[in-house]
Amino acid sequence: MKAAILSVGTELLFGQITNTNTVYLSQQLNMLGYDVMYHYTVGDNAKRMAEMIRLAFSDCDLVLTTGGLGPTQDDMTKEIACQVMGDELVLMDDVLAGLLQYFDNLGEEMTENNKKQAVMPSRAKVFDNETGSAPGFALEKDGKFIVCMPGPPGEMKPMFQNHVRPFLQEMSREVIYYRMVRVFGIGESRLETELLELIDGQSDPTLATYAKEGECALRIASKRRTLAEAEKAVDEMLKKVMALVGEYVYSCDDEELVEVVCRKLMEKKLTISCAESCTGGKFAAALTDIPGISACFQRGFVTYSNEAKIEQLGVSPETLERYGAVSEEIAREMAEGLARVSGSDLCVSVTGIAGPAGATEIKPVGLIYVGLWYQGRTQCRKIQTGDDDRSWNRQYAMLSMLDLVNRNI
Ligand code: ATP
Ligand code: MG
Repeated sequence: MKAAILSVGTELLFGQITNTNTVYLSQQLNMLGYDVMYHYTVGDNAKRMAEMIRLAFSDCDLVLTTGGLGPTQDDMTKEIACQVMGDELVLMDDVLAGLLQYFDNLGEEMTENNKKQAVMPSRAKVFDNETGSAPGFALEKDGKFIVCMPGPPGEMKPMFQNHVRPFLQEMSREVIYYRMVRVFGIGESRLETELLELIDGQSDPTLATYAKEGECALRIASKRRTLAEAEKAVDEMLKKVMALVGEYVYSCDDEELVEVVCRKLMEKKLTISCAESCTGGKFAAALTDIPGISACFQRGFVTYSNEAKIEQLGVSPETLERYGAVSEEIAREMAEGLARVSGSDLCVSVTGIAGPAGATEIKPVGLIYVGLWYQGRTQCRKIQTGDDDRSWNRQYAMLSMLDLVNRNI
């Protein structure tokens, strides 16, 4: 079933508040098996609101609105919905009784304008507002539904969970299940190419690739009559995906690379230290974002200058002279020096040319070396991003450190 979300409120158009209701409702509707086709936002204006609702119904069977249900003059969603759906407003005694009770509980006198909230479209299915005063409702016309909810998230969410969700569940005929597969070390276009035979001609499950900062994600989604059927279809597709690009996959459950690495370090009770040049501490910052990592993370050096590399890690001045700071030899010596000073199980190092300047005749911007000392053995990975964007190169270098660690533990 196709759905649209209509956010009502001039504040939204002014950019005074962030439209979190739409994000929340989109996620919820997707899980219920609805296809969200449009997000609309309109100010507190009767004519434009009516036009938007009609426009939404030209392609959708369900329109969900939030905002404009309150007691004040600028609140008009109910009136407009009623008009578009060809109904009339009537005073509902039980809604009025509920309102009086609500104000009584607050120990307040109900003002006259609040009475407006007990007036409802005659055919409406009314939804209680347990955390505020304005009730919501659903209204049908010719098999199309409008569902109106209050704007404040603290009122909208409980109303959705307690009343709207069961109502929509009843109406929906399908459920969606999806998994987010995260990959590193392969670009989005190559990922798509590798998976072409699966992507081509597939209607369910669907496969979609997304580019993230320095990494990629793949969404495998299925829409079926039951959750069990959808899960089965997704998991079968996941097996096929793993057979083709499994070597790049680090999570099938939408985890960040740093989360995966930290989880593994903690599980295996391994200690880690890092020595960073071009990333300037990004690796240490990423690790220390994760709660509980103090059990594993021991030291982080930012050795940006040659002197720092020599003094703090014992890198040899001759090696620096001969190969330059951005070289496999230096990445290795940094990791090995770090192993001596830290005594950690894993010692990871990085050196590179972040750009945009700093390239030499033989060393381009985006040249990065990641070193890892683990179990008495040193290894080094050479990366050429081919990009002169400083922030991208630094991010990619940091992720490469995580990836190298991930592959070794
Ligand atoms: P009230 O009874 O409080 O007037 P209402 O249903 O009339 O509720 P609005 O007046 O449109 O809703 O909005 C009230 C408040 O709800 C806004 O000031 C804002 O804080 C919040 N709100 C409204 N719409 C959204 C939205 N789309 N996303 C997040 N917050 C919202
Ligand atoms: Mg209002």
